[in-house]
Amino acid sequence: METISIIIPCYNEEEAIPVYYETMVRQMDEMEEQQKVQFELIFVDDGSKDHSLFEMRRLAQKDMRCRYLSFSRNFGKEAAMYAGLQAAKGDYVTVMDVDLQDPPSLLPKMYAMLQSGTCDCVAARRSSREGEGKIKSFLSNAFYGVINRLSRTEIVSGARDYRLMSRKMVDAVLEMSEYNRFSKGIFGWVGFHTEWLEFEHEDRCAGTSKWPLRKLLAYSVDGITGFSVAPLSLASVMGVLFFLISMILIVFIIGRTLLFGDPVAGWPSMACILFLVSGVQLFCTGIVGIYLSKTYLETKHRPIYLLKETSEETVKMHSVQP
Ligand code: UDP
Ligand code: MG
Repeated sequence: METISIIIPCYNEEEAIPVYYETMVRQMDEMEEQQKVQFELIFVDDGSKDHSLFEMRRLAQKDMRCRYLSFSRNFGKEAAMYAGLQAAKGDYVTVMDVDLQDPPSLLPKMYAMLQSGTCDCVAARRSSREGEGKIKSFLSNAFYGVINRLSRTEIVSGARDYRLMSRKMVDAVLEMSEYNRFSKGIFGWVGFHTEWLEFEHEDRCAGTSKWPLRKLLAYSVDGITGFSVAPLSLASVMGVLFFLISMILIVFIIGRTLLFGDPVAGWPSMACILFLVSGVQLFCTGIVGIYLSKTYLETKHRPIYLLKETSEETVKMHSVQP
């Protein structure tokens, strides 16, 4: 029998975990019966400060299909997904948010499409940005516009991390062991044929969003710098542009001085040019700085996550006891 592994990153989700589990049990039972497939749920506790880990322990004891990994601190959703992918043993693997914003009802169709062998991945995509704040959806659209213009890897707008992948594709994703992870780009970069399923936005089942604007901005910088080096060449393009402008300006100023003299000392124009050029220089140095810092972190080869506890260890500990 084939196995589907589901990875569920959780950060302070004590309210959502039981609701998610109850919904999934119904979905899993139905698929086990109709499609003859078995499941493995891997909860990843991303350093939660609430009782998420407690909920996971409870589920692992109650249901053989549930396992968990717990991080020593908050490493971010990307790290949680990577840890889950490494731990997954299934023939097919997917990542799901615990807040039920990724509808479990899509799973039977995803699995059926993969089984037919026409694709290696079936991914979910939100059909609209309804239910999202105006600022957030404007920034998201701007981000996808910029990144797709700059990067050769296509990064689909509205795509979720919710996608059922074949073992071949999962192994390819695991080959990419970079520290600054941006999965939406990684999934595109590894290739393989992906089919898309559209679905309507749903509100969170419990708790609040764990992605404040600040985190989203850092995430988009990770995305752009991880999948494009175009900003680095911006400095040289601006350099050429400013050289040309200054040549024209010099000819104009010399000509004017020769013809009409220089009755007023031209400090305002000088000041403007000085501000402008130093601003551009700082901006470009900043871009180089961002890439440099990412390279610096990458060369340290630090682990992407650190484990504090796993369900396997707990099971072992229990079995040792008399
Ligand atoms: N998440 C995580 N680590 C983090 C932030 C979020 O594991 O540092 C998880 C979170 O528990 C949830 C998923 O990632 O299961 C998506 O987060 P959320 O629903 O808050 O994002 P949104 O849907 O608002 O974009
Ligand atoms: Mg959510």
